[in-house]
Amino acid sequence: RDAVELEALQHADVARLLPLPAAESDKYRRGVVGIAAGSSRYPGAAVLAVAGALRGGAGAVRYAGPAGDAVIARFPETLVSGGGPRRAGRVQAWVVGPGAGDDAAPVAEVLAADVPVLIDADGLRLADPEAVRGRAAPTLMTPHAGEAAALLGVSREEVEGARLASVRELAARYAATVLLKGSTTLVAAPGGAGAVRVNPTGTSWLATAGSGDVLSGLTGSLLAAGLRPMDAASTGAYLHGLSARFAADGAPVSAHDVAENIPRAWREVR
Ligand code: AMP
Ligand code: MG
Repeated sequence: RDAVELEALQHADVARLLPLPAAESDKYRRGVVGIAAGSSRYPGAAVLAVAGALRGGAGAVRYAGPAGDAVIARFPETLVSGGGPRRAGRVQAWVVGPGAGDDAAPVAEVLAADVPVLIDADGLRLADPEAVRGRAAPTLMTPHAGEAAALLGVSREEVEGARLASVRELAARYAATVLLKGSTTLVAAPGGAGAVRVNPTGTSWLATAGSGDVLSGLTGSLLAAGLRPMDAASTGAYLHGLSARFAADGAPVSAHDVAENIPRAWREVR
């Protein structure tokens, strides 16, 4: 029964979804993605999310968070603003949560914005469920099994033993698109009904610290470029898996290597 409820994303589908700049486009029309991630304790998560976002197809990446110095040192093309997401200026999508620590304020600010929001990592724990359900703009949540278990109030093993039911249940509870990470990444539409997409490109070399932060930035950038949440999530996962395969080529990779191979994954898909 599960087999007919699952839909593997095809190469040709992803090729059609890639946001290519029109001849007359400019950076704002391509979309601006906001990254609210990182903390004094985890500045690297901000850098990795920005690294993913810069290769995702948005025209600009805005960073609002406490790791601005680390971000700008590595990526001078980032628009860094102090003062939190609310004061960061216009974006077409937000990514919130990677390495965010315990500060709930940026999460609440981003959830109040009238643009698509991707919530990952610490942001999943800090987000008020009512605020998520009450949003008019789309929300995309990207938990791994442990984070999904915490949200559902069950054990990690229970999620791993029922991944399809878990991703559907989260999509229903939060009225959000949900991407459940792991050895097979699943994407469910808001409400949890309909076919669940499965990403075919994953590789266990992705089981390395920071790789999820790269996925959030990459997928957030696709959201800012105008892809619908289901499409952004499945295209993000597809490119992320391919990037890791290129980066690894049979040897260990770092999250940073994965981010650097995103352009190669695009070229492979196009
Ligand atoms: P995170 O746990 O947030 O760092 O995210 C880890 C990333 O690596 C996600 O994109 C997962 O889907 C991916 N990943 C982790 N373990 C595996 C695995 N065994 N096979 C394929 N992908 C994996
Ligand atoms: Mg993570």
